[in-house]
Amino acid sequence: MKTGLYIHIPFCRQKCLYCAFYSVAARDGEYADAYAGALLREAEYFEERFFAQRKAEIATLYIGGGTPSLLPVPFYAGLLEKLQRIFDLSNLEEVTFEANPEHLSLAYLRELYRQTPVRRLSIGVQSFSDADLKLLNRRHSAQQALDAVENACRAGFENLSVDLIYGIHPAGERSTWQDNLETLKSLQLPHFSAYALTVEPHTMLELKLAAGKMAIAGEEQVEKEYFFLQEFAAGNGYEAYEISNYAQNGAYGLHNCNYWRDVPYIGLGAAAHSYLGDERHWNPASVRDYIQDPVSGKQGERLQERDRYHEYVMTALRTVWGVRQEKIAAFSEPLRQEFHQRAEKEIKCGNLQHKGDAYIVSPAKRLLTDGIAASFF
Ligand code: SF4
Repeated sequence: MKTGLYIHIPFCRQKCLYCAFYSVAARDGEYADAYAGALLREAEYFEERFFAQRKAEIATLYIGGGTPSLLPVPFYAGLLEKLQRIFDLSNLEEVTFEANPEHLSLAYLRELYRQTPVRRLSIGVQSFSDADLKLLNRRHSAQQALDAVENACRAGFENLSVDLIYGIHPAGERSTWQDNLETLKSLQLPHFSAYALTVEPHTMLELKLAAGKMAIAGEEQVEKEYFFLQEFAAGNGYEAYEISNYAQNGAYGLHNCNYWRDVPYIGLGAAAHSYLGDERHWNPASVRDYIQDPVSGKQGERLQERDRYHEYVMTALRTVWGVRQEKIAAFSEPLRQEFHQRAEKEIKCGNLQHKGDAYIVSPAKRLLTDGIAASFF
């Protein structure tokens, strides 16, 4: 069976204002060898436990973080060569690498293209405004973001995506969102992701807001920028195929699509999650513990039918393909009934609509998707 492989690189130079992901500050290459060793030991654990008879056939590989581009290319070339002995990497349909603009020199990108199978880049741009980048505590400048895209094209990468953030400025302040989308348009990228700035617990953003040191967009402003984004996407040939993801001509991020399609995946690294068979595993968020022993700290649970139902409805409603009747039909009668009763209510109040044999969130209500999905549970 095809499987996704995610490799987590939990190192960052500094913490961004809004970030709640697990990462540790690391200087160039610090921990790299020890971390690579631990990743391989964890991969062997998955091989012995789940793939003793036959190597796992990896369909998509995603190297995310943290900041993968903090580590030198030979780190990845060496790691993937060794992983090849453990997993079947001969039929990769997509290999994505997350990167920050300040690391994407032409030399780095050329090396990455030549020495690894990475062909898709997801670049953490967030904004093309220097003032926004400073506010968000990012390390790069707007010019570095533009250079990174140009360098990637020159190095041969065609499958490029950038991440952008909206809802940064409160109503009354000048919003940079329109300008950011204009710049995005000029870059003619096949894919981008756009996220509303959200206040996560234990972030610098939360502290600053609580101390009254800054303000961000309120609900109405976020909604305004979100609808502007929808118009922009529709007017420029981008399909909003998931609530935060936009693609031209079907250039979907396959690795993420497979998460939403219930394809199993192996997650390697500190704080990484895996989903295999009916089991979910996750690693503690500690680089030190992970390096010492990447296996014994693992936690896991066996998924019950209701867990799988929740997961499916939650993720499928976020996509343009919606919740499919045939998938719901595979659940037991009580869950099927529960789903149909709730879905009819949501249709009556205009939150959901039919699309072929699927239920999707009505386009005007997409910003409320998580709340609508939560009403099913
Ligand atoms: S670079 Fe990414 S993972 Fe690291 S702190 Fe910033 S947002 Fe978080």
